[in-house]
Amino acid sequence: MELKILHLYPDLLNLYGDRGNIACMKKRLTWRSIGAEVISHTCDSGDFSLDGVDIVFIGGGSDREQKIVCHRLLEHKEMLHGFVNDNGVLVAVCGGYQLLGKYYKLADETIEGLDILDIYTEQGKKRLIGNVVLDSDVAGKIVGFENHGGRTYIGNHTPLGKVVHGYGNDDKSGVEGVVYKNVVATYLHGPLLPKNPRLCDYILTNALKRKYPDFGGLAPLDDKLEATASEYIVNRFN
Ligand code: GLN
Repeated sequence: MELKILHLYPDLLNLYGDRGNIACMKKRLTWRSIGAEVISHTCDSGDFSLDGVDIVFIGGGSDREQKIVCHRLLEHKEMLHGFVNDNGVLVAVCGGYQLLGKYYKLADETIEGLDILDIYTEQGKKRLIGNVVLDSDVAGKIVGFENHGGRTYIGNHTPLGKVVHGYGNDDKSGVEGVVYKNVVATYLHGPLLPKNPRLCDYILTNALKRKYPDFGGLAPLDDKLEATASEYIVNRFN
């Protein structure tokens, strides 16, 4: 078995080391003797294709970088819609998350999104920064870090989790992120998947089930250290 992971624009969208999420997916596959091919598509790599791709990852970035990336992504809008509708796995963090929506409205301009999710984002006055704890149906307690000026309104979408600590999507609704088909979109930056191995395995399982319909599930790994670190954070913010 093998998964192909496409990392979109790591040269522009890689705040707080979002790239570590790629390393985590790869490592957790390798530990189970499942192959992992990672393709990094940077701004100067020309066109990209989703042929044979199982997981697409888009990280976070500043408004300036998002503007550049949004034009590139819009050129591939139809292909990305097709991928998501075909249950392709898409993981998007912060700036990448905002770009999956209809638009991201800044003070002086509006960045058009891919319209994959029926959500929109508006820039607020204060930045929402800090540690986050979520309660999630797909992965239990999720711990992470957020730093965003945008408030994202997710309408009828299912959130990734309820906010136990932190601001979440919009500082009001008490929810964070979106889970839609095999899309996981979240404001949680940096080492999201290394900190939350259950979420990583949820994502990998979705990709493996799609590619190998007979796939029977991932072998468990020893995640004691990660569980202890997560518990510590959860208790600290309780
Ligand atoms: N530029 C966006 C915002 O501030 C996203 C930032 C990020 O990816 N951290 O809301």
